[in-house]
Amino acid sequence: MARQHYNVRMQKDLKEFTHAQLEELVKGLGGRSYWAGYIFSFIHTKAASDIDAITPLPKSFRQALKDQGLFIGMLKTEQCLKDPDGTIKLTFTTQDGLYLESVVLRDRDRNTVCISCQSGCRMGCLFCATGAMGFQGNLTAGQIVDQVYQVNARQIKVHNVVYMGMGEPFDNYDAVLRSARLLNDKNGLNIGQRRITISTCGIPEGIVRMASEGTQFRLAISLHGPDDQTRGLLMPVANRYGLAEVLRAAEHYQAKTGRRITIEYCMLDSINDSPAHARALVKVLKGLKVNVNLIEFNPFPGARFAPSPRTQIRHFCQILRDSGLETAIRFRRGQTISAACGQLGADRLQASKIATL
Ligand code: SF4
Repeated sequence: MARQHYNVRMQKDLKEFTHAQLEELVKGLGGRSYWAGYIFSFIHTKAASDIDAITPLPKSFRQALKDQGLFIGMLKTEQCLKDPDGTIKLTFTTQDGLYLESVVLRDRDRNTVCISCQSGCRMGCLFCATGAMGFQGNLTAGQIVDQVYQVNARQIKVHNVVYMGMGEPFDNYDAVLRSARLLNDKNGLNIGQRRITISTCGIPEGIVRMASEGTQFRLAISLHGPDDQTRGLLMPVANRYGLAEVLRAAEHYQAKTGRRITIEYCMLDSINDSPAHARALVKVLKGLKVNVNLIEFNPFPGARFAPSPRTQIRHFCQILRDSGLETAIRFRRGQTISAACGQLGADRLQASKIATL
């Protein structure tokens, strides 16, 4: 019943509608099809939160939309936290009471928004605070794009969007793809497809499906280990899908799209960071066109792993580079506000632990 209620709400949220769907809707209500353009641009570029704010529409037509039970869904901002390094973390709740977080990473003149596609996550990666939170619910496409609009409304120009916040994108596939298309729409924020990255912990069906979308969105795969044993220690999903299956899906994706894939690899002390692991990683990635991001682990309260020493990370990186792999190191960001990779939900988790003591 609750799920049905949720779906009905979702269909009534104008932020969910594509431009073509808005045209259908407007025509169905006896309006002129170009009015769809007003609705779309007010929602997706001017952060309109109320149908009455779309002033180019006749008053009677705004009323007709409201009479249909249509509305413009908005996230409620709970907090905006700033780290001395410039990183910003925003925390939100949805109208359905789900909690989520987004992060803005500022790099000289480029801003990247890291967005969530779920509240919590059911993948349970052991190095991730979101995984420890468990799964709370899927976000709708409207709730996903709204995270970017809320950043934009703070006069922060959004250059890149990465689906690397809370949740596994391919566990909420349709909403994620719809949201990415909305962000890319030329009548909306018009964020280039190659500036939008969808990141998976390694769900082969999702990778294969994305290969057939005919889009240019970028794909990132979190490997975190060069073999099943290491991955299995860190990611329960690795026990469902072996590394060979994930890499087969990646090969298929590359054969179909010709696009380079980003490999994410979180560096954990004495777990996956030895020179032997680096050499094994080189071997398994052979034949794929990839760039590798080595991520410095960000501990959170209760975490059972420690970050690899920086010398170890640099050494690991050198082995990869010497083999010809394009590799970058991502050192910790937003540490004081728990905004770093794998830390989203850490404050919430800590608060719930304190509350239940
Ligand atoms: S790392 Fe990603 S997929 Fe794994 S638990 Fe965290 S949010 Fe989910």
